[in-house]
Amino acid sequence: MRLVSEFRQSELVGGLVQNIRRHAVKKARFMEFCGGHTVAIMKFGLRQLLPPSLTLTSGPGCPVCVTDNADLDKAIALAQLPDVIIATFGDMVRVPGSRSSLQEAKAGGGDVRIVYSTLDALALARENPGKSVVFVGVGFETTAPTVAASILQADREGLNNYYVLSLHKLCPPVIKALLDSGEVNLQGLICPGHVSAVIGSRPWEFIARDYGIPCVVSGFEPLDILQSIDMLSAQVAKGESRVEIAYRRGVTPDGNATAIKIMEQVFEPAPARWRGFGEVPGSGLSLRPEFQRFDAELNFDFDPGPTINEKGCLCGEVLRGVKIPPDCSLFRKACTPENPVGPCMVSSEGSCAAFYHYGENEDR
Ligand code: SF4
Repeated sequence: MRLVSEFRQSELVGGLVQNIRRHAVKKARFMEFCGGHTVAIMKFGLRQLLPPSLTLTSGPGCPVCVTDNADLDKAIALAQLPDVIIATFGDMVRVPGSRSSLQEAKAGGGDVRIVYSTLDALALARENPGKSVVFVGVGFETTAPTVAASILQADREGLNNYYVLSLHKLCPPVIKALLDSGEVNLQGLICPGHVSAVIGSRPWEFIARDYGIPCVVSGFEPLDILQSIDMLSAQVAKGESRVEIAYRRGVTPDGNATAIKIMEQVFEPAPARWRGFGEVPGSGLSLRPEFQRFDAELNFDFDPGPTINEKGCLCGEVLRGVKIPPDCSLFRKACTPENPVGPCMVSSEGSCAAFYHYGENEDR
């Protein structure tokens, strides 16, 4: 077994930084898609190790952050229905929607429970046959197969009180939307390791082929990320654009066939709203017709009300990579982890939280 410490060895970090400095002869901006990468980059001070020619920009890869207020409002409205138990991952509870949060709905009498997996949500449904359990399905391709598996399990057991509010999102379509917008000029993409463990590296090939942008799938330790940056810099230096895998211990070109099959059995692609992007075609997952009896949106009568976005919050711009958290006038003032105004300050993968905790001396 390889230990995490192996991927944090300072002498190896030093060697990789030397390689990066040798390769990074051209000015380049790389986006780390994934919020997990942003946190690791900030936590380990990796930006400060890079030569001035390289800039790193955070992307939209934080599922909690990209959940639109309109969708959050649905979960909050469902929490206010009688005999409904909302089962959700912890990060979602404090995220402000248009008028309140799940936490406030709970304080107001709603039954909101934090779960650690869909197994917990299924257990809640079994233990509470007189109530309806709605699992708030927020996550990327990494999470969707486990939610799909929970629906198949509920189907097998004949559970008729288990529902999913499917707010899942697919990553490649939003990158396409970002690149098509022309708002950010990227010379490289650090592709998400966990998502790619499921979908493989092939779904990123259109970025290298159609947009000429080098891609490297990265793990989450400092050495993984520096190696990915070095591989991207080497491609840029040679004028190449390919998809490479730096995270070979977790990712193959074809991904996890079992997880993909389960996901595709239960879900089908659908349009989805992303904070900061609006609706992106084919970037969400809705339940296939044969599983719609588990679809919370179709089986409850609820009114999420009009969508309101917090004035001054730049989460949308941060998620599109056109602003950084210190650009927001509320950062560290009205918006802190204790009193978050936007989701990027709530989520453990949010850029604003990462800058708040680790970005004291951040200047680019
Ligand atoms: Fe939104 Fe707060 Fe980040 Fe500003 S600092 S962009 S208000 S989460």
